[in-house]
Amino acid sequence: MLNFALGPVMSSDLILNIGAQQTPYFRTPEFSKINLENEQLMKELVFADEDARAIFLTGSGTSGMESTVMNVFNENDKVLIVNGGGFGQRFVDLCELHNIPCDDIKVDFGSCLTKEMLYEYDNEDYTAFIVNICETSSGVHYDIDMISDFCEKNNLLLVVDAVSSFLADYINMVDHKVDVIITGSQKALACPPGIAIIVLSPKAIERVNNNTCKSMYFDFEDMLINGVRGQTPYTPAITIILQLNARLKQIKDDGGSEAEIKRISDLACDFRTKIEQFPFEVRCKCLSNAVTTVHSKEILDVNLVEILKNEYDIWVSTARDDLSKDMIFRVGHMGDLTSEDNDKLIDALKDIQKRGLF
Ligand SMILES: *Cc1c(COP(=O)(O)O)cnc(C)c1O
Repeated sequence: MLNFALGPVMSSDLILNIGAQQTPYFRTPEFSKINLENEQLMKELVFADEDARAIFLTGSGTSGMESTVMNVFNENDKVLIVNGGGFGQRFVDLCELHNIPCDDIKVDFGSCLTKEMLYEYDNEDYTAFIVNICETSSGVHYDIDMISDFCEKNNLLLVVDAVSSFLADYINMVDHKVDVIITGSQKALACPPGIAIIVLSPKAIERVNNNTCKSMYFDFEDMLINGVRGQTPYTPAITIILQLNARLKQIKDDGGSEAEIKRISDLACDFRTKIEQFPFEVRCKCLSNAVTTVHSKEILDVNLVEILKNEYDIWVSTARDDLSKDMIFRVGHMGDLTSEDNDKLIDALKDIQKRGLF
């Protein structure tokens, strides 16, 4: 199989081999050392402050989103959320569920967030800002520099869901003054799903420690205390932690996040050039490097996602078709993929075209 989906993505043999081993017991000095090393590596890859902390939580990316809302905010907050698709809406739903006052900036599906839209919310009484920096459902990447300036001007705590954007688009926790970055094991980290990673700035840690979390499993304060000795309160997804360790070290050895971002961005450019030969187009001007959302110039009556999967063993992601019937698929560029893999997808599309299906 050749997987261009947006998570889980293709894992390298290094990661696959670790997954084939017996799961070791974890209350050991050896495993503590791995956890401590992962925390340090993760902080380096997001350019975090020395006093920042990273939590490795067993759960999918959404567990990172929900636990952040539960631990960082309370009913005295007023949170502004960028809502341009499924993941932005998820934060709105989470804040409402946990009684955190919030408003959302509604961005049309597939559109960029402009300065004019953002500054309509200038000088209000918000305390915090949440953005899915890549809104994976549309592929849109919001402007982190613009958002960072806005949050600094308005003194807002900044929470960035970078689940699909981490290692695909540049983000610097200190320079961009980000207080929380959330990511997950199954996107550009190219491991199986099961671990959410939350990096907290010193300011966010202070908030966590002064807040009450009404959950035992999701309590960050407990995780941070256990993390000092390289342990977790409960049994983690041990094998994925080991896979992440190998992957984080590999990224560091290969030149760090900048090198991985360049690799993913080169792959995205390569694909975007090659797709131009079809009656398709890439319309969005602010796409993340992680994903290319492809539209058809005409409405197609074939389901290319199904044909590619069933007849070519190539997996791409579906696109939301309730609003945009000409949006045909989303192609991911994260994980163990090469430009030769892009060629295989292009060749399959050429074949489908030759068969007269579009
Ligand atoms: C994938 C993703 C998540 C996490 O989704 P899960 O299915 O819970 O792992 C969260 N936010 C964004 C922007 C994502 O792309």
